[in-house]
Amino acid sequence: ANGLMAGKRGLIMGLANNRSIAWGIAKALHAQGAEMCFSYQGEALKRRVEPLAAEVGSDFLVECDVSDEAAMDMTFAEIKNRWGNLDFVVHAIGFSNKDELEGRYIDTSPDNFALTMNISVYSFTAVAKRAEALLNPGGSLLTLTYYGAAKYVPNYNVMGVAKAALEASVRYLAVDMGKKGIRVNAISAGAIKTLAASGISGLRDMLHWQEANSALRKNVTTDEVGGSALYLLSDLSSGVTGEIHYVDAGFNVVGMKLMDQDTP
Ligand code: NAD
Repeated sequence: ANGLMAGKRGLIMGLANNRSIAWGIAKALHAQGAEMCFSYQGEALKRRVEPLAAEVGSDFLVECDVSDEAAMDMTFAEIKNRWGNLDFVVHAIGFSNKDELEGRYIDTSPDNFALTMNISVYSFTAVAKRAEALLNPGGSLLTLTYYGAAKYVPNYNVMGVAKAALEASVRYLAVDMGKKGIRVNAISAGAIKTLAASGISGLRDMLHWQEANSALRKNVTTDEVGGSALYLLSDLSSGVTGEIHYVDAGFNVVGMKLMDQDTP
């Protein structure tokens, strides 16, 4: 294969359907010659993921619920078995109970707090730990975060607290793995209508607000996230680690509501 990712092999975690951020990333990587393994959450998703994987030339699928330590071990054992080593991992996974993605953060239950932190934060560290043994020097890990980590965003609640912890873990992992030449970064994507995002109350308002108040006056697409992911997963970004890279049409740099007449 030709391209920036020629000869590179990686694991994509978090593909659910063709609206997933993981899909935008997988397409961008495929166009540049990457070879990919896809892990999916459960049997029900397999039927969705299989044809998408085939579209990007992959028949390498592994079932992996990240809350299941044994399934995580199996995933990396299968990769070791088939490939022997690894160049990149994309972690595009998050979860919180829908009924706590509305109302007040203060009402978060201890059970959902722990669940959200486990799936959305700890799993990235658990993945990094297992990937470390297989990653080649120059390897790259990428996770997905959101602006609700840095600022209050209505209804994002416990997920915002989890994303803040995820962003901190990117910095700690970057130093831990830096000695081996492995890089760890996050993309902070603007809001996109995906399956996971549909669980957030008031998503439509978030999308409208972002479109009207971002520097580029638009919402971002999963393909745009894919383009930036390609950079962070390729050798082009060999000098970049521990970063939270915003792909949000410049929403986070605007400090005051814009009042254009021609925006919604
Ligand atoms: P999505 O629903 O397409 O993807 C979420 C994925 O998480 C699904 O594939 C789901 O199977 C997986 N997942 C959830 N629990 C899991 C578990 N226990 N084990 C294994 N997999 C599990 O939605 P998306 O928006 O593409 O989400 C991908 C990532 O991007 C998430 O971390 C999300 O928080 C982040 N993100 C999304 C947006 C947005 O607006 N859509 C913005 C910024 C960041």
